[in-house]
Amino acid sequence: MDADEKARALARVNERTDAWLARRAIGLELGDFKEKIGRDPRTMPRTDLEALGHKPMTVLEALRARCIDCCAGSAQEVRKCTAVDCPSWPFRMGWNPWRERKEMSDEARAALGERLAVARKRMGSP
Ligand code: SF4
Repeated sequence: MDADEKARALARVNERTDAWLARRAIGLELGDFKEKIGRDPRTMPRTDLEALGHKPMTVLEALRARCIDCCAGSAQEVRKCTAVDCPSWPFRMGWNPWRERKEMSDEARAALGERLAVARKRMGSP
């Protein structure tokens, strides 16, 4: 790689970094001591959340996505996570274990199975 190629590569990295910083600034505001703090999502318009790269999702989907991020993108590592005291641990498979389980008909069980298969595929489960 010659000096011109290195300069162009560095310029591309700087452009991407500038774009990332500009996008990230949408989610920040100044705190009491003029330090940068995260904005309160309860007061943010949906367009700002989307500009930050967020998509509408359920809380369980968000927990699952957090766990996958925590495990560097590996759904199998999330399954094997040993941090049993982590608040997300019971939810890491995209399932709420605290919800009461209902008796279901065979038809309802089959329909739920299909919905879960679609959701797991979307969330990257093994
Ligand atoms: S449960 Fe495990 S994978 Fe999920 S956030 Fe906690 S430590 Fe990470």
